Amino acid sequence: MPHPVLTALDLTGNESGTYLGNGEWSNDASAGLLEPVNPTDGEVLAQVRGTSQADYETVVARAQAAFKVWRTTPAPRRGEAVRLCADALRRNKDALGSLVALEMGKSKPEGDGEVQEMIDIGEFAVGLSRQLYGLTMHSERPGHRMYEQWHPVGVVGIISAFNFPVAVWAWNAFVAAACGDICIWKPSPRTPLSAIASMKICNEALKEGGFPDIFFLINDAGTELAQQFVDDRRIPLISFTGSTRIGRQVGERVARRMGRSLLELGGNNAIIVEQSADLALAIPAIVFGAVGTAGQRCTSTRRLIVHASIYDTVLEKLVAGYKQVEKRIGDPTDPANLMGPLNSAEGVQAYLAAIEKAKAAGGTIASGGAALSDRKGNFVLPTLITGLGNDSEIVQTETFAPILYMMKYEDLDEAIAMQNAVPQGLSSAIFTTNLKVSEAYLSAAGSDCGISNVNIGTSGAEIGGAFGGEKETGGGRESGSDAWKAYMRRQTNTINYSDAMPLAQGIKFEL
Ligand code: NAD
Repeated sequence: MPHPVLTALDLTGNESGTYLGNGEWSNDASAGLLEPVNPTDGEVLAQVRGTSQADYETVVARAQAAFKVWRTTPAPRRGEAVRLCADALRRNKDALGSLVALEMGKSKPEGDGEVQEMIDIGEFAVGLSRQLYGLTMHSERPGHRMYEQWHPVGVVGIISAFNFPVAVWAWNAFVAAACGDICIWKPSPRTPLSAIASMKICNEALKEGGFPDIFFLINDAGTELAQQFVDDRRIPLISFTGSTRIGRQVGERVARRMGRSLLELGGNNAIIVEQSADLALAIPAIVFGAVGTAGQRCTSTRRLIVHASIYDTVLEKLVAGYKQVEKRIGDPTDPANLMGPLNSAEGVQAYLAAIEKAKAAGGTIASGGAALSDRKGNFVLPTLITGLGNDSEIVQTETFAPILYMMKYEDLDEAIAMQNAVPQGLSSAIFTTNLKVSEAYLSAAGSDCGISNVNIGTSGAEIGGAFGGEKETGGGRESGSDAWKAYMRRQTNTINYSDAMPLAQGIKFEL
């Protein structure tokens, strides 16, 4: 019997991982099976058929054909298609949020929150569909007009990570669809069900609304198809979300064929707690940032840099907060729990290995430090570690688990230098009530991250801003602001409405 959370979304537990277009899901079982595991009890949730070579070719060919129609569909009409998807997701928010919680392991409110992000970016993309503005420039030549326009780029490949199994797709796909692109999605092999359910909800809404196929799905039971996808010249843009290790390979491969890549990779995010900080704000933000989604957000708080004068007070309050969370670790689909399991058994191994490394380097476990081996599933304790330097190898590493390294500082420049002295550059925050400190932190000499906050933690972001980070986080930007430009190609147009043929820069070319 399939899990009731699957049945609520008409999933049977025996799924096709390939949406071929024309309402068809492939039956081809020749490319192996994916078996997503319930992280709460270790049971296989379903069998999902991977995408065969023949089906991959069908998907790419149909996506290319769809692009020819979609690129000339007026952008506000494209926005209407996205609006229907957002409405359908709103109707299915509870069921899809539960599936995200079940399959990924994040808490039910966070699963629902992820679906809300899909709805929000959908609404953003609807508005955007009437605002794909280009500039008009003054030509240096008389009788000439010069302007730029933005055209869709083509078929966009979206490769997503397990920790945001649905929102990352929507961030990309809804904006890309409004821009006139067609999307092919390859989700994480750990969370294919959330992807299949999202595609069914959106594609049914598109069909009912009389729209063509704009969203396709493939799944890879290994990594060969994913690599082929990355190398495919028919896909001008690959938007990749995942680890820096794989993202580096993807970026290099796409660059080799002169394609475009949008990279959203790992983070090693820090919060600085300055001596004037309001701890009533800082403590809950730190605990949520470090422990929420069991530390499996790219924006999770992994380092805490606290002024020496308040270090002991902050430590004491955090330990008390962690003890509260420990009482509410459990089944993520139960809304009473604050923290679910890690997504995989490998994640638990990585957590335990990091704790051993931290201890070997001289760290002290101030809270947590163990897996919950008395029960099934991948449950661990949220862990707070003190006594390590920022340059310690394990502190420099993104371990995708609820481990927070707490360090002391004496002056602000030192704290900012510590925060920036990691290979990654995604999210950062300071807690302060001092205006000068806040401005210094946000200045060009301050935080070097793509996201920098004051009196809000590092974790999560609103869809209205551009999301992404610097250095080994990959440099990509998604979601709000002008991130849409990544999904379009810019064309500069000069029109001569005079009777002369003046050349630029006053060049004379007499014939
Ligand atoms: P991962 O790198 O293991 O996998 C990401 C995706 O890449 C999956 O779909 C996977 O199947 C695919 N993949 C694996 N090998 C591939 C290859 N050779 N070629 C092409 N694709 C391949 O990452 P994960 O464990 O799923 O996710 C966790 C990581 O993602 C963390 O590092 C986290 O910080 C990062 N992340 C970043 C952001 C962001 O926006 N910056 C958001 C979410 C997650």
